[in-house]
Amino acid sequence: MSRFLSPRFEALEAYTPGEQPRDQQYIKLNTNESPFPPSPEVIERINADEVRRLHLYPDPEGKFLKEKLAKLYGVEKENIFLSNGSDDILNFAFMAFCDNERGAVFPEISYGFYPVYADLYQVPHMKIPLKEDFSIHYKDYCNVNKMVVIANPNAPTGMEIGLYEIEEILKSNPHHVVLIDEAYVDFGGTSAVGLVEKYPNLMVSMTYSKSRSMAGARLGFAIASKEIIEDLEKIKFSTNPYNINRLTLVAGEAAVDSDFYYKENSKKIIATREATVKALKNLGFIVLDSKANFIFAKHDKIYGGEFYAELKKKGVLVRHFEKEKIKDFVRITIGTDAQMKIFLQKTAEILNER
Ligand SMILES: *Cc1c(COP(=O)(O)O)cnc(C)c1O
Repeated sequence: MSRFLSPRFEALEAYTPGEQPRDQQYIKLNTNESPFPPSPEVIERINADEVRRLHLYPDPEGKFLKEKLAKLYGVEKENIFLSNGSDDILNFAFMAFCDNERGAVFPEISYGFYPVYADLYQVPHMKIPLKEDFSIHYKDYCNVNKMVVIANPNAPTGMEIGLYEIEEILKSNPHHVVLIDEAYVDFGGTSAVGLVEKYPNLMVSMTYSKSRSMAGARLGFAIASKEIIEDLEKIKFSTNPYNINRLTLVAGEAAVDSDFYYKENSKKIIATREATVKALKNLGFIVLDSKANFIFAKHDKIYGGEFYAELKKKGVLVRHFEKEKIKDFVRITIGTDAQMKIFLQKTAEILNER
């Protein structure tokens, strides 16, 4: 900490992103990116003409992209908020809907960014333990009188809760935002978007980083009541109205136009996930029931941190969290069939060496 930093950030512990190695080619199964490139339409739209227009600011409203997303999700353009990745949206939600009196709750084992934002804005927060089987017990989030943040499917477990449970949470917290983070919903989860019309306190956030193969472009969106979207716009226009660049906006539009391509990729990933789960179980792993593009697995014979390190030596990167309740596990992003075949070979080698 420098002598210039405001003392209010003294205790702040920043988020640690997964490794983005530059030293060698790994089979990269550690940050839940898509193994597939963006659609041919996206690649075609980012052309010399678009680059030439970079001397102009982008549309701060993102009108065309909002219209396309609204149509795709069966809502109105006023129900859509766009931002620079969904982390940006989470940031805005904590900034807009919480303060030192309006607290937040989220699962103890979940996306590591939630407590960072809560600390950043000095929001009192409660981390609610998962059940023994790593599932979220919805009753723990009813009548909490705070903003509720739930990743569904949850990370890093991959497990989901149902819409009935989400509705109970929404009904019992009518004066607070219930933020459902659907970063992984396209891999077989159930979206809460259909409930937006009924519950003005529901906010669903989504991202182009996982199922839409655009982690490097930074684009996320939220779907919610007009009331909530107006609040988020107010914060965005008070910080950085041009927070989505021109190239990302056109890429985002082209991706909606080629939605079929991404749906097919998600199907491939689901099939590869199911095959990988089966193979790991055959090797003696315990694997949680995943509805995401990653799986969370552990083996009696090897501690998570060691498994991670041995895989890395063999050129395969996965993610390990040094956290008491989950340190036996590693999180494995689902790649292509060819990548998973190598991952499984290396895994079998590591187990045989024991
Ligand atoms: C990856 C992820 C995000 C962030 O995605 P970006 O759009 O790349 O910022 C948000 N929430 C969860 C649970 C994630 O796993």
